[in-house]
Amino acid sequence: MSEIRGLNFISGKYTRGTSNKTFDNISPVDGNKICEVHEASIEDVESAVTAARQALSGPWGKMELSERLKIVSGIVDGITNKFEEFLAAEVADTGKPVKLASHLDIPRGAANFQIFADIMRNHHDSAFHMPTPDGTGALNYTTSRPKGVIGVISPWNLPLLLMTWKVGPALACGNAVVVKPSEETPSTTAMLGEVMNSVGVPPGVFNVIHGFGPNSAGEFLVKNSNVDAITFTGETVTGEAIMKNAAIGIRDVSFELGGKNPAIVFADCDIDKAIEGTNRSVFANCGQVCLGTERVFVERSIFKEFVSKLKEAAQNHVCGRPESDSTTLGPLISKEHRDKVLSYYKAAVEGGATVVVGGGIPELDSSLEGGAWIEPTIWTDLEDGHPVTTEEIFGPCCHIRPFDTEDEVIALANDTPYGLACSIWTENLTKAHRVAPQIKTGITWVNSWFLRDLRTPFGGSKQSGIGREGGSYSLEFYTDLTNICIKL
Ligand code: NAD
Repeated sequence: MSEIRGLNFISGKYTRGTSNKTFDNISPVDGNKICEVHEASIEDVESAVTAARQALSGPWGKMELSERLKIVSGIVDGITNKFEEFLAAEVADTGKPVKLASHLDIPRGAANFQIFADIMRNHHDSAFHMPTPDGTGALNYTTSRPKGVIGVISPWNLPLLLMTWKVGPALACGNAVVVKPSEETPSTTAMLGEVMNSVGVPPGVFNVIHGFGPNSAGEFLVKNSNVDAITFTGETVTGEAIMKNAAIGIRDVSFELGGKNPAIVFADCDIDKAIEGTNRSVFANCGQVCLGTERVFVERSIFKEFVSKLKEAAQNHVCGRPESDSTTLGPLISKEHRDKVLSYYKAAVEGGATVVVGGGIPELDSSLEGGAWIEPTIWTDLEDGHPVTTEEIFGPCCHIRPFDTEDEVIALANDTPYGLACSIWTENLTKAHRVAPQIKTGITWVNSWFLRDLRTPFGGSKQSGIGREGGSYSLEFYTDLTNICIKL
């Protein structure tokens, strides 16, 4: 199995591709090499896109919906049957605790196929009767087709989960995909090819190409004019680059981008719940969750108590090997990313922050020295507008700031170019209903975080994204609608 992790998957076959270029997949836990990855050339990307196009006019394109959905549901069993292999590969690539990946990444990665198979099974078209001057009327009805070849570009923080969140609906709607996983985490996407073959997905419906962004597989894919639409999860600046290239040929995009998410903690919250939730939203997956909280606003009367309790929670985190039961915090994805996060740790101190806890690299077993380890970190006392409080850091850290009034905290929460997620902590439901709609985000939780019903719309406002995916909302991107008007 480890052999296929670094291979491209084109038209149902694993291939090294034609570039003769490889790059190393490095463990963020200890810096050891996991496997060699074969970078796709522009010709390989062309072959993958051509295979996808041909699949649409082959058996896949002609298949009855029920048969197609049976195959899509079968992918769930295919992943579940290889659960341990997917888990080991995801943990190796990301370094995240086994406890986390076994409960989140792999089961949700599989569930993404089931939810969209169910949505399509229950999907129905719309009909509209209209009167006409001659009295006979007309009947309109909608019919939807797959959009075509979808380019899927995914990040490294939740590799299988975020990739299948797009491949699931794309296939359920009858499209063919070419997937470019993150260069940091190529394994589980490559492994999915084997599952696709085993459950009867025809060759060319699911293709994988490995490589980087600019002047590599990512850019080659977006620039390929035979790709009908691009769905992307990653940084906002990458989204801008992709959008420019997708503009040529007016190709549709769906973007899930960065965030600088606030948590609002009112004095009338259940403080234990708020601490438990904020501890997760700041530190889960070592802070590498797009929905994670980096700005915490706490009503002044409970500010000190909250800071001290969150500090205690941060101090209780245990960095360590993913397999260890006591580990709660994995490493960052790479040393390069750690350098970026550490530059914010430094900037916070230079900006006059009080470092409540953390701020550096933890002392760990010498066998972990080569890894991208970092301390969970909390700051207070930074000026509003400081880059640490405005830019996405994507690490296990947050700034906590006191507030006095509801209007003030709503303005503070919205004072960002991002608009992905927010958590509000209060036991006063009237207040929650009043405040939640005023926060300009794609998703706002009250007294929770990362509680996801997959039928609901998911996406970001402002610079956090374009479009909403999830449940039947995904159909707006993955299908093309035609209205048929019949004069009676
Ligand atoms: P990234 O933007 O660096 O890379 C994402 C993917 O894009 C990778 O596969 C990369 O190779 C590819 N890419 C890079 N440049 C490209 C280009 N010019 N053309 C085509 N492809 C290109 O993001 P990342 O560092 O992998 O992930 C972290 C980011 O993702 C954070 O900003 C995070 O907030 C965001 N994210 C958002 C969501 C969401 O749902 N909104 C979810 C997870 C992560």
